[in-house]
Amino acid sequence: MQHILDAIQSGEATSEDFASLQIPDHYRAACVHKDEVDMFEGIPSKEKDPRKSLHVEDVALPELGPGEAFVAVMASAINYNTVWTSIFEPVSTFGFLERYGRLSELTKRHDLPYHVVGSDLSGVVLKTGPGVTKWKPGDRVVAHCLSVELESPDGHNDTMLDNEQRIWGFETNFGGLAEVAMVKANQLMPKPEHLTWEEAASPGLVNCTAYRQLVSKNGGAMKQGDNVLVWGASGGLGGFATQYALNGGATPVCVVSNEEKAKIVRSMGAELVINRSEMDFRFWNEEGTQQNPKEWQRLGKAIRELTGGEDIDIVFEHPGRETFGASVYVTRKGGTITTCASTTGFMHEYDNRYLWMNLKRIISSHFANYRESWEANRLIAKGKIHPTLSRTYTLDQVGQASLDVHQNKHQGKVGVLALAPEEGLGVLDEEMRSKHLDAINRFRGV
Ligand code: NAP
Repeated sequence: MQHILDAIQSGEATSEDFASLQIPDHYRAACVHKDEVDMFEGIPSKEKDPRKSLHVEDVALPELGPGEAFVAVMASAINYNTVWTSIFEPVSTFGFLERYGRLSELTKRHDLPYHVVGSDLSGVVLKTGPGVTKWKPGDRVVAHCLSVELESPDGHNDTMLDNEQRIWGFETNFGGLAEVAMVKANQLMPKPEHLTWEEAASPGLVNCTAYRQLVSKNGGAMKQGDNVLVWGASGGLGGFATQYALNGGATPVCVVSNEEKAKIVRSMGAELVINRSEMDFRFWNEEGTQQNPKEWQRLGKAIRELTGGEDIDIVFEHPGRETFGASVYVTRKGGTITTCASTTGFMHEYDNRYLWMNLKRIISSHFANYRESWEANRLIAKGKIHPTLSRTYTLDQVGQASLDVHQNKHQGKVGVLALAPEEGLGVLDEEMRSKHLDAINRFRGV
């Protein structure tokens, strides 16, 4: 891979130079193994250790198909989906690969005894397959993680509705936590050039998800003046939801679990912060069988104290079972709860009387279509939204990086260097960087 890295680092290689580079038939990648999916059986979720299940090893380069591209990955990031894959919960992702493999001769390539994970990247296009005209070798890119086939009519209004919609590196193989990734060319977007490789790779999945969930008309359609309750406001998704609320003239009410995280959201410009550990909310009884509406009221009261008596227009939900009852309760009449996840459990319970009598709406959201992803990346490139990268690991340390996220020991995003030999490389637009450096550092907790 050294010759590829040299070409990237030289800054002088042309598209023709990149096209003529030989791509090795093997590359290093972070994988889980199909014969290990039972390795954590009987162990509580929190004790399942991604360091045991994630292997960094040589894998074979697949054949490149029509509409696809190989990208030399300079950096990637940890998403919660890599945690799910590595602890084989709620299901093993090999089922996704088998199902995808049954679709066609081409998709069969994904059904392997190993799964190369990772749904973010920044890097350089090495080769494009037949039919790709928009991108060429040498292009500096980031990739969003929506993989679609678009052969049926359903996805043509909103590609998230395609029958064959998948998350690359989670429901497909050849993901971004590797030296080379295989993506569909319609996942590619220009790399924001004021950012380092690891900064540019880090917003991807969560930034696009937060954009659709909160801003897009397919999600919360947030407007100026809205009060937005953001759970995990300094976390992966929440760090971007907080920024979108501030950027769009709304008021985020940020929920975090410690003072360090509170400091980060304040440094982003948020003024209304709830420390959920300090408040010690007990939305459920000890056994986790019954909810306590008095605790929902206590949250509602804390919100009103911060907002001067106003309720929440949009709840940015993702913790799921633990918080959903409270989220429905604290939403104002006619307000919206947008949900994209259930980290603490997917069998939600809430009191439906509060929903229907007050004409509240629950809106489901999942990743983002290409247009929404493009908008989210464009806002990063314009310096209106910033990365929240708190720490960067090497590819060999991918297990530890995933464990940090699994144990909620991280802040914002956790990056991973793939081909990039060190942090801090890849910036082309120094002038714009110096303009935004203060925010970039503050948002990462420096
Ligand atoms: P993350 O970086 O771990 O952030 C989640 C935050 O939620 C944590 O930092 C934590 O913040 C908060 N949290 C954890 N447990 C909580 C609880 N019991 N009550 C209240 N808050 C709690 O993860 P993420 O990247 O934001 O992802 C969050 C979830 O969304 C994951 O399940 C992920 O798989 C899912 N997701 C879905 C999509 C999609 O497209 N559908 C996309 C991205 C992520 P504090 O400790 O500060 O409160």
